[in-house]
Amino acid sequence: MTEAKEVIVTGAGIMGASIAWHLTKAGAKVTVIAGSGAGGVATPNSFAWINASWGNPEPYFRLRIRSMAEWTRLANEVPGIPLQWCGGLCWDLPRPELEAYAAEHSAWGYGIERVDRAGAARIEPNLTELPDFALYVAEEGVAEPVAATQALLADAERRGARLLTGVTATALVRANGQVSGVDTSAGRIVADEVVIAAGAGSPALAATAGIELPIGTPPGLIVHSRPYQKLLNGLMIGDRLHMRQTAEGRIIAGSDFGGADPGMDAAATARDLFAAMKAMLRGADGLELDFHTIGYRPTPVDGFPIIGRAEGAGGVYVAVMHSGITLAPAVGLFAAREILDGDRDPLLDPYGLARFTQ
Ligand SMILES: Cc1cc2nc3c(=O)[nH]c(=O)nc-3n(C[C@H](O)[C@H](O)[C@H](O)COP(=O)(O)OP(=O)(O)OC[C@H]3O[C@@H](n4cnc5c(N)ncnc54)[C@H](O)[C@@H]3O)c2cc1C
Repeated sequence: MTEAKEVIVTGAGIMGASIAWHLTKAGAKVTVIAGSGAGGVATPNSFAWINASWGNPEPYFRLRIRSMAEWTRLANEVPGIPLQWCGGLCWDLPRPELEAYAAEHSAWGYGIERVDRAGAARIEPNLTELPDFALYVAEEGVAEPVAATQALLADAERRGARLLTGVTATALVRANGQVSGVDTSAGRIVADEVVIAAGAGSPALAATAGIELPIGTPPGLIVHSRPYQKLLNGLMIGDRLHMRQTAEGRIIAGSDFGGADPGMDAAATARDLFAAMKAMLRGADGLELDFHTIGYRPTPVDGFPIIGRAEGAGGVYVAVMHSGITLAPAVGLFAAREILDGDRDPLLDPYGLARFTQ
């Protein structure tokens, strides 16, 4: 019998958790190392909208829609993943652009329904401002990000993975162009392969093996109300803000792709955003702002994921991206297959690191 492959996964956000879970399930000996606790850094500050919505070329749409299907599979396999296909009502573009998006994505198989003002009111009866025209996608949803990440890590541990939180990876260990482990704040750990799923911390770690990751970290502010009675049925992607109600009953909102620019005075931005959100909801008189978060999205400079091995450095696999909540199940599945069997899923073809050097 061949020995199980030993893999270190750096990062305990949604991406590290999904890769670690899929590797463990496929029989690898996995150690997860994270400076944070189980749950990650960007992940707890995410809006967590699972979608294949407008603005993406067809190959990226195909990866996203595949990942939406993989969420359902994962939630059936892992106990305690809070996944909800609650639907998304979208009107954050002018009508001609919404029409173009609907025509294109419907042709690709996305389940888009055109709705008028009365239709929008039926979907979200507590909105005070209703759009004359919106698009509704019943198959969009949410996985509460921290709970989903912790459920994946707990199940990976149950299957034999080792989880080291509060441990920082300081450098990749390299010999003859091959990575053979990591130096950490708790000493050296050796392995057959190291996965860098360290979000915004990925470029610094990759640089220790001479790998350059072109990643930006744009901030996004989200306001969170105290838990409240149910006012929203699903995701609301409006022209001025995006909002949803969490599994605990908090209404959360951001103004730009699920986050707002914090500006010079983040507390003032949060108060203004919360006031705008409250004004959009009927029955929200008692709604109170509890806190706001500012998350930094780990975003490759061309906006698309980086997934795969770096050329010239064996034994290291990179998985860094925005839309990590949407993409985590497919990326975890495909990364585990590539790391263990060498099979690269064609859906990953556009997302190698080599695209930045060609
Ligand atoms: C405001 C906002 C809104 C968003 N909205 C959406 C959305 O609606 N839909 C969607 O799909 N995505 C959304 N995203 C993006 C999504 O949240 C991220 O892509 C995803 O959370 C990234 O997960 P991750 O595991 O890669 O990173 P993180 O959650 O940041 O985890 C990184 C992990 O790496 C660890 N780490 C870093 N460096 C080291 C080191 N040197 N040693 C050890 N550990 C290390 C950290 O401690 C942490 O555990 C949003 C993000 C933000 C901020």
